[in-house]
Amino acid sequence: MRVKKAGAGDPFVASGDRHSFWDPASEGMRGMDGDLSLEERLAFGIEFHLNGDYDFGMETETDNFKNISESYSKSSIPATTASQNSVPEMLHAAQCWLEHLDDNPNRVPPVVAKANKPLEAMVLGRTRLIDQNAPGDIQHIVLRLPENFHYVEGQSLSVIPPGISSKTNKPHKPRLYSIASTRYGDLLDGNTVSLCVRKAEYYDPSTGLPDPTKAGVCSGFLCGVRPGQKVMVAGPVGKTMVLPSDPSKDIIMVATGTGIAPFRSFLHRLYTEHTIARQQFTGDAWLILGVPTSGSLLYKPEFDAMLEINKKTNRSSSLTIDYAISREMTNAQGGKMYVQDVLTENAQRLFAKLESGAVVYFCGLKGMMPGILEALETVATAKNIDWPTKLKEYQSNHQWHVEVY
Ligand code: FAD
Repeated sequence: MRVKKAGAGDPFVASGDRHSFWDPASEGMRGMDGDLSLEERLAFGIEFHLNGDYDFGMETETDNFKNISESYSKSSIPATTASQNSVPEMLHAAQCWLEHLDDNPNRVPPVVAKANKPLEAMVLGRTRLIDQNAPGDIQHIVLRLPENFHYVEGQSLSVIPPGISSKTNKPHKPRLYSIASTRYGDLLDGNTVSLCVRKAEYYDPSTGLPDPTKAGVCSGFLCGVRPGQKVMVAGPVGKTMVLPSDPSKDIIMVATGTGIAPFRSFLHRLYTEHTIARQQFTGDAWLILGVPTSGSLLYKPEFDAMLEINKKTNRSSSLTIDYAISREMTNAQGGKMYVQDVLTENAQRLFAKLESGAVVYFCGLKGMMPGILEALETVATAKNIDWPTKLKEYQSNHQWHVEVY
């Protein structure tokens, strides 16, 4: 009953402990599906939440699938565009229409709300993601979205902070946040969104230290929200970071700090949720996450659970996760370890993957890109590759995606 107890049917959960929404380790072992499997919940759709008490007793998972296949009319399910050969019939029968949000030439669903006409979302919970002694503040925030507000992995949400800007005397401008959950949301009901927000700090120019009395307008607001509070949202926006349409492509994800958000969503989609997307993904995934200290690692328990599950299920798609912990790890030259050092140290593998069509994504602070580009150019030059030409080639092949802020 974990997901329901945590709030799938109730408007609030207590803030402070992310595991009160969702425990990645135990849910992972059970399929991360809450009361019933994801397929079952989606097949019952809204009825599941209205009536609630579907009891499958001691039936096996296969029996449950069979029940659904029989009880759920196949004619009411939109046809999937992807190959169905590798998908068990029962899984196809139970898939949800949310699987088809990207079944259009744009590969993203339409914008539901523009920033000048935002809609009201509600905070379900919030929790600090990093250790108490880790620098700064990064929070995982789960919002209940307005009705019919749907998004796909890799998109962002606009948040309009409350109040008036003292500079312009007008309402604050919207700020974008990468979505950290899959289209099903952390509560798996297709109606929530999760964000990973770093409270923007102000540095006192005289001391060079952060001034705790000041914070970024929107990130300060989000990092302090309480369950039940309203948040004005718009979007969803963005298609730079969507997953490749070809599920056989390898994906390489390079993140610094909160840049992990879209990749958390990718990895839940490709390695945890029981959907056709996961079933069809045959590529390999490689995540490189850079943070300052080990206490600043984001979503590590979830990623550990994914690695464990992937090993146990013997899937052909491998999952590799490398961390660059700058203040605690050293690179080959004895300097601080950054994401570009991981790329340099794995240059052979990186270029081999890109040359076979892998898709690479970069997300995080703007400052991450110059070091990465410089490192890749050095490696490419050593391999007699003309980097500017190669980079253009990757960009025009849609193999190169950057979202930095
Ligand atoms: P603001 O109030 O706008 O201030 C920003 C910074 O400006 C401050 O930190 C400070 O350094 C400086 N500053 C402003 N005013 C002053 C002043 N008076 N004195 C001194 N310094 C000042 N952020 C995330 O945390 N997570 C995400 O997943 C994420 N995804 C993004 C995705 C996209 C596509 C983009 C474009 C941005 C994303 N961001 C993300 C960044 C986010 O949109 C905001 O820019 C960020 O939260 C800061 O906004 P704020 O309102 O808190 O800060």
